[in-house]
Amino acid sequence: MPQTIPATLIPGDGIGHEIVDATLAALDAVGAPFEWDRQIAGLEGVTIAGDPLPPATLASIRRTRLALKGPLETPSGGGYRSSNVRLREEFKLYANLRPARTVIPGGRFDDIDLVIVRENLEGLYIGHEAYIPIDDDPHAVAMATGINTRQGSRRILKFAFEHAIATGRKKITVVHKANIMKALTGIFLETAQQMYEEHYKGRIGFEAVIVDACAMKLVINPWQFDVIVTTNLFGDILSDLAAGLVGGLGMAPGANIGHDAAIFEAVHGSAPDIAGQGKANPTALMLAAAMMLEHVKLVESAQRLRRAIADTLNVDKVRTGDLGGRASTSEFAKAVVARIGPA
Ligand code: NAD
Repeated sequence: MPQTIPATLIPGDGIGHEIVDATLAALDAVGAPFEWDRQIAGLEGVTIAGDPLPPATLASIRRTRLALKGPLETPSGGGYRSSNVRLREEFKLYANLRPARTVIPGGRFDDIDLVIVRENLEGLYIGHEAYIPIDDDPHAVAMATGINTRQGSRRILKFAFEHAIATGRKKITVVHKANIMKALTGIFLETAQQMYEEHYKGRIGFEAVIVDACAMKLVINPWQFDVIVTTNLFGDILSDLAAGLVGGLGMAPGANIGHDAAIFEAVHGSAPDIAGQGKANPTALMLAAAMMLEHVKLVESAQRLRRAIADTLNVDKVRTGDLGGRASTSEFAKAVVARIGPA
């Protein structure tokens, strides 16, 4: 084991503290050497420090360049801007890596193993939105601007191609809507086709699929996909769809990666409907922690953690309610820790 690795910990909102506690127990059991710096953000940031993204949290990540994060609540409609989006922008975490792998066999879709690479900084998430008032309706017209750049497209496509080749994948699918948003998503498709011709032809398979058709194909035959790379909003939607193929949001981890920092989290949100009830499934965050271990090159620890999660679910049949089981969050965590066993 290496010496300690400084890392920022943001437990987050809703079920955040419950699933973070469970994940820390599993990380301790595999002897993960993270030296945690606990920080706040989201609604907890607003409640405690009057700021959804306090300067101390930013300073911590600037120092550690590595974070594990619970879900952060964002009010819909008005209120403050998403701390998740701001964190991605602040640390230029341009790549959102969302693997969807079957852990529990025998579900509606078996043997799923696909990766969605989502562009994380551009597109319709840049927050350029406005209302135009007409007469007495202040919200008579709503507008949003999307921006995709050549440089941003190239950056995420390079990440996707290189990641796919390095991990032995066979095919990249570029997902777009260039038939309708000819400029906004056309630039992404055009850049992908150019890069493939110039750098990657013969090294990996390549196809382009329109997003609506992709959603249908993912449900009819998800096995035809390997690595999907797409723009911000499409990636957000398709990765939730992919999470559904492997048992739901409780099973889907994600990594936000940039040149200078990486933040690991579950794909799901703060699940306010079950918060504080001990019902949350911590698997997604535990799998995100396994990605974090891999990121710092502790591949064996990551494998141990993944194996223990799979054995807990499949051999011990300890499962939380979302998977049809009766275990609480902490009971599930205890079972994973028992499976990991002594070092
Ligand atoms: P959600 O993902 O929180 O919940 C959707 C449904 O899935 C709910 O029924 C919830 O109970 C269930 N669910 C989610 N995670 C679960 C888990 N680990 N175990 C068992 N069930 C789980 O989505 P939402 O309700 O649309 O969003 C709630 C809040 O989370 C919003 O404020 C949203 O902005 C925020 N959010 C944050 C992130 C993030 O921090 N990365 C991501 C998505 C949404």
